[in-house]
Amino acid sequence: MTVEIIAVGTEILLGNIVNTNAAYLAEKCAGLGLSCYHQDVVGDNEERLSETIKTALGRADILLLSGGLGPTQDDLTKEVAAKVMGKPLYLHEASRDVIKAFFEKRGLEITDNNWKQAMVPEGCIVVDNPNGTAPGIIMAENGKHVILMPGPPNELVPMFETSILPYLSKLQSCVIFSQTVKICGVGESKLETMIRDLIEKQTNPTIATYAKTGEVHLRVTARAEDEKEAKKLVKPMVKELKGRFGSSIYTTDDTVTLEKAVVDLLLANHLTICTVESCTGGLLAARLINVPGVSEVFKAGYITYSNKAKRRLLGVKKNLLLKHGAVSEQVAKEMARGAALASKADVTISVTGIAGPGGGTEEKPVGLVYMGCSVCGRITVKKCQFSGNRSKIRENTVSAALSLMRECILQYYSEVTFGGKEK
Ligand code: ATP
Ligand code: MG
Repeated sequence: MTVEIIAVGTEILLGNIVNTNAAYLAEKCAGLGLSCYHQDVVGDNEERLSETIKTALGRADILLLSGGLGPTQDDLTKEVAAKVMGKPLYLHEASRDVIKAFFEKRGLEITDNNWKQAMVPEGCIVVDNPNGTAPGIIMAENGKHVILMPGPPNELVPMFETSILPYLSKLQSCVIFSQTVKICGVGESKLETMIRDLIEKQTNPTIATYAKTGEVHLRVTARAEDEKEAKKLVKPMVKELKGRFGSSIYTTDDTVTLEKAVVDLLLANHLTICTVESCTGGLLAARLINVPGVSEVFKAGYITYSNKAKRRLLGVKKNLLLKHGAVSEQVAKEMARGAALASKADVTISVTGIAGPGGGTEEKPVGLVYMGCSVCGRITVKKCQFSGNRSKIRENTVSAALSLMRECILQYYSEVTFGGKEK
């Protein structure tokens, strides 16, 4: 089945608000296996909205409209959609009671235009809106489904999750099942060459590639009659990807982030961690501290921005800083070593780099970052060259540092276990 998403609102056309509803709905529809070929944005104008709805009805089975369900004069989505569908509006008593209770509870005065929200098209399904006064509306006729939802995301999202999504699922004769394979430490272009053959011959399941900052997600999606059958189709493809990417896959669980995977690895190996940051200024520590339960492993985080701080807090030698500069392999290594001594953490990770826009030279351009990772005294240093603006470089650095930590810990244990080396 095909779906078309229509965001209504002059504010969106003018760029005053970002159309996050469309992004949200599109992602949900993709997850349901509904094909979306068009998205529209239209202002609060009766003629143009009517035209947009008619055009969309000509090419899609399901229309998802957001916005324009409010009480004011410029909110006209319901009136226009009902007119296009040839449905007169009537007063929906239950909605009127909800509006009355909503205002009474808040001690607010009900103005006349509020009752407009209790008017609904004949023969429609009225959808509860627990977070506002405008109910959602579903009009279904001749195989077409026109669904109206309020614009504010805090109303639209819960309404979609609880009422619209189950409705759409029922319309689909097949079931969609997806699993995400999350990969870090492999560049996007290299990754593409590693799966080109799979992409070229994909049918069911399909593989979609999503490049994220410092990582790539592969979404494997299968379509089948029931969930069991769909899962059965996804499984061998995920297995194939595991064979190709090995330990670069940090999870196949949608809910697990890279920082969570790192924290889980630290927890599983009873390791403590200390971060020491220059150019990222605490971003790396903040990413790790996003993870609930990190207090079990996180010992300390240093932000050593100046050379003086690197010397005083981490014992980086003045000569080393003078000879090689703060952004160097040697200093990254000493920062990791110094942090290990100062914090007594099992794992330390250091970053030092040039985030720009100034400060770059031909020899050391903007985006040059060195990071050091010490795992139980064994230090690995990595050089990276990132591009983009200051915040992009800092975000990339954090992701690369998380990947490096993961890699170093896994490497350490594989050598301890299989190389016969003592810890
Ligand atoms: P209200 O009762 O608040 O008027 P409504 O259903 O009439 O709700 P709109 O008037 O179109 O919706 O928009 C209200 C607010 O909802 C906007 O100011 C904006 O903050 C948010 N909003 C509307 N449409 C979108 C959208 N497509 N993406 C993100 N936010 C949106
Ligand atoms: Mg409005």
